[in-house]
Amino acid sequence: MKKYRLLVTIIIAMGIIIIGTTNPITNLYKSTNLINKGINPKEQSNNEKNNPKDLLICIDPGHQEKGDRSLEPAAPGSSQTKAKVSSGASGVATKKPEYMLNLEASTVLKHILEGMGYRVAMTRETNDVNISNAQRAIMANEKNADMVIRVHADSLDNSSKTGASILIPSKDNKHTSRIYEKSNNCAKSVDEHMKKAGIEVNGIFERGDLTGFNWSKVPVVLVEMGFLSNYNEDYMMSSPQYQRKLMQSIADGVEAYFGNNSNL
Ligand SMILES: [Zn+2]
Repeated sequence: MKKYRLLVTIIIAMGIIIIGTTNPITNLYKSTNLINKGINPKEQSNNEKNNPKDLLICIDPGHQEKGDRSLEPAAPGSSQTKAKVSSGASGVATKKPEYMLNLEASTVLKHILEGMGYRVAMTRETNDVNISNAQRAIMANEKNADMVIRVHADSLDNSSKTGASILIPSKDNKHTSRIYEKSNNCAKSVDEHMKKAGIEVNGIFERGDLTGFNWSKVPVVLVEMGFLSNYNEDYMMSSPQYQRKLMQSIADGVEAYFGNNSNL
């Protein structure tokens, strides 16, 4: 009699479960699967957006083999004009032109970011191009890049000056105020990771005078890798090991920036 009652109770209980839910086994499987992955079902959509494969990084290797001194507006609708693009400085020790060094380092960065799962677009992949600074910004706008990294090297009359610098669009410039916050957050993350890798960084500087910033509608960070006018730093920037360390630290900074969901 006891056995019979137990059997009836089990049959009734199973019936209630099957009728009460549409497909309990599938639902149970789904929840268990999400729990196993450590994902709360409510957070799943955010985590999917965080997949680096969905993010596009545009890299702009600064300058080109031959400068173009013809003029373009320094900002959309501006009457102030600046030369379209210059060939840049060259190394005091290596004699290597900046446009060449920038492309070398940018190619290293491209491979690192692609290895991390990002989509990468380059404004140029050869030195013999003619693409103005405004055109480079427009290229990134049209691709709706999630972040633009511009790669440059500094030069000064003072040969003792060393260190990298990070430039971002100005907060108070009407053309760039909307992209300031994301650019600044990414710059802070890049700065932190460069310093962590042992790279000398002089700081983050806002610039309202750069055509390549003023035309940008997407967040952008420009890294001046170091000084071509300093003998040791010029040599160092051409070393494949140093280029790899520097570019890895920039990529790590970008990764940490996107790792924070509020930046998506
Ligand atoms: Zn430059």
